[in-house]
Amino acid sequence: MTTWWAAHAVIDGEVCHRVLLESTDGVLTRVECDADAPADARMLTGLVLPGAVNAHSHAFHRVLRGRTHRGHDSFWAWRDQMYAAAGRLDPEGYYALARAVFAEMLLAGYTAVGEFHYLHYAPGGSAYADPNAMSAALSWAAEDVGIRLVLLDTLYLESAPGKAPDETQARFSDGSVERWIERTTLLRGSRLVTHGLAIHSVRAVPPDAIAVAAQVARERGVPLHAHVSEQPRENDECRVAYGRSPVEVLRDAGALGNGFTAVHATHLADGDVRALGDSHVCVCPTTERDLADGIGPIPALRDAGASLCLGSDSHAIIDPFEEARAIEMDERLGSRRRGTFTGAELLAAMTVGGSAALGLSSLGLTVGSPADFIEVDTSSVRLAGHDDTEMVDAVVYAATSSDVRTVVVDGVEQVQAGAHRSIDAAAELDRQIRRVMAQ
Ligand SMILES: [Zn+2]
Repeated sequence: MTTWWAAHAVIDGEVCHRVLLESTDGVLTRVECDADAPADARMLTGLVLPGAVNAHSHAFHRVLRGRTHRGHDSFWAWRDQMYAAAGRLDPEGYYALARAVFAEMLLAGYTAVGEFHYLHYAPGGSAYADPNAMSAALSWAAEDVGIRLVLLDTLYLESAPGKAPDETQARFSDGSVERWIERTTLLRGSRLVTHGLAIHSVRAVPPDAIAVAAQVARERGVPLHAHVSEQPRENDECRVAYGRSPVEVLRDAGALGNGFTAVHATHLADGDVRALGDSHVCVCPTTERDLADGIGPIPALRDAGASLCLGSDSHAIIDPFEEARAIEMDERLGSRRRGTFTGAELLAAMTVGGSAALGLSSLGLTVGSPADFIEVDTSSVRLAGHDDTEMVDAVVYAATSSDVRTVVVDGVEQVQAGAHRSIDAAAELDRQIRRVMAQ
């Protein structure tokens, strides 16, 4: 059992004071406000929040940061660079890289990550001796640094509707939905690692296979994610091939609902927005701005009933506060109106919204939830000078990942005083990114 005493903590969206947090076997067993600090409590003098949840990640994209900004003018040119990076990874190398990337996420305040994983096969498309060697590499990396991982094993069958995968995409494809089902039954979980399923996109998976995947996700009781309408070209190709929008194809295949997460959902028609009202929507603002995707109809999705969450996706930036405030800030730029979302709504998208999309049980700082939480240093140069009533807004609108001081996952302090307990993340990122890019 471990006990923490927090000067301030956000509980059900409200700031409470003098909060006692107790964890037994990684689960919160006591959460009390206005409590005295026991002598053996670990003292947290800043603001404690539920852990941030990164609901959409491709760990290897981290190698592209800062390397895609010259002379490449479209998403599709960026994708060529991303494919070149994918071609350089094997299980051993991916383990080492992902370990460093997951450590960066922990330092930024993410306690859980949904890894949208499609790099299953060796270059050329042959299977590794362990057909899940690449996902095992990701799982070991997560366990090693202590981040909660939901591995979303991704189905990928086509380059475009009716077109076979190209040379790079051969690594992504199981060849048939049946082989994907068979391979994913062999995935192994652990205390920190669980599994979900994903459909890469309507571009890469035909409607009949989407229907099968949706059925399998329901039978296994696991979340199902898909990239949806990130780019107009994807919508155009879908209409030509199937005469419907990507959301309509997913709806008709039975994929939508409270087990489903639409990632991006940027270019939607009104009917698409309504159809997603029972689903989760994962917005990835720093990636979407980096790739010039556009700004999605997030207020309309919220008003239709969709549950919002956030992802750092390509890791152009890893900072949950930046993702959260971007929802409102992008909306302000697009609509020239302020205050469409409250700070509490953005904080919920950053935390419990992501847990729900990933099938995790965290409801925030409540008894029975996993002991996954972070402490933000409210005395930092960015946050100093705010009283209680403004603290959530100050954190949402001005904090950065540098303000995260303590990160607890499964009841264990993985980050203390702003440093990971077992890995020098910056040195390891430097080493691993240079190694991958030198190949
Ligand atoms: Zn993605």
